[in-house]
Amino acid sequence: MNTTELTDIPFFPPDLFEDDRQVLLRLLRETGTAASQRFILGEQTARLERELCEQLGAADVVACGSGTTALTLVLAAMEIGPGDEVVVPAFGCAPLASSVLALGARPVFADIDPWTMVVDPRAVERLITERTRALMPAHMFSVMADLPALAALAERYGLRLVEDSAVAQGGVLAGRPAGLWGEAGVYSFVQVKTFGMPGEGGAVVTRDAEIGRTVRMLRNHGQDGRERFRHHRIGWNSRFDELQAAFQLHRLPGLPARLERRARIADYYGERFAPLAQHGVLAPPPGREGRCYYVYTLLADRRDALRDHLAARGIASHAYYPQALPRQEAFRPFARPGDSWPAADRAAERALSIPVYPHLSDRQVERIADAVTEFGSA
Ligand SMILES: *Cc1c(COP(=O)(O)O)cnc(C)c1O
Repeated sequence: MNTTELTDIPFFPPDLFEDDRQVLLRLLRETGTAASQRFILGEQTARLERELCEQLGAADVVACGSGTTALTLVLAAMEIGPGDEVVVPAFGCAPLASSVLALGARPVFADIDPWTMVVDPRAVERLITERTRALMPAHMFSVMADLPALAALAERYGLRLVEDSAVAQGGVLAGRPAGLWGEAGVYSFVQVKTFGMPGEGGAVVTRDAEIGRTVRMLRNHGQDGRERFRHHRIGWNSRFDELQAAFQLHRLPGLPARLERRARIADYYGERFAPLAQHGVLAPPPGREGRCYYVYTLLADRRDALRDHLAARGIASHAYYPQALPRQEAFRPFARPGDSWPAADRAAERALSIPVYPHLSDRQVERIADAVTEFGSA
């Protein structure tokens, strides 16, 4: 059976930018025919940085080539390198480990909370050694990591705090926006993220002007922006595209409404799914505090059966991540011998994400909820 033919509710929809297509074409023409012929790091990028910075109350926002390189540049700005350890979650996306390894430092994998799937601060504390330089928690799916506890740990042990807030733009915890809990955080603008765009991009957000200045240099080969071809530090190419910046400026005012629609869908799911907990389908913690509904992730004892059940009803879902990070072939050699991550392993077997994007119709949302409920009550 070809399930893709039957899937009429995709997991990530292909029509994300349909409403803005004419604007995109207009901006392409304007950028392409402008007298300045400026395609990277121009006035549009600077405006986007300023608007995000004002909105957040940050010291600086630096647009970068991707969320991944944003993480790398923050770690590099903190001069993390060979001999250093960075404590990262054992469950999450590859850049959490690869950005640390790319700088010659070692990721130390900490187990997660079995329900929220974000890193467990007690596990983090147990892994701190005299080589630990930084903590790098990540917000996961819809839940912000326990940054108050992690910030307290960083303070107590004199460690740097980097916040992988790639999926949490718009989330707020205890009055502080995602990205500003750490000394620096990152956002990703890759297509599927909540402030996604038709291409690659991201940003460093920081409450430390000095980190902002250094990242600004590092994203463009270590030059300081005043004088080209003078290289103060070994840098990268992680520059931002002017056309995308113009498009993001157009999309920014609509972001709060799109995030609100995601949250409302999640509220509805939460009500519908609460009774399924005793039947082996656990919904994520509900609410708005410390939440950002990038994806909506269930924990199901019979995960693959739930995925097939939904697929048979035309509803696509996504099982990520299929392995804990230190179980991945790429990162296994760097895991500390003897460490184990039972909650991350369990999450890899049980997590299933269902659609939660803002332009799902109410009817589609009901259909998804009905299908999950039917499975969970069977
Ligand atoms: C998407 C993502 C990244 C990387 O962002 P890119 O823009 O794809 O490089 C980093 N961390 C997390 C948690 C992500 O979800």
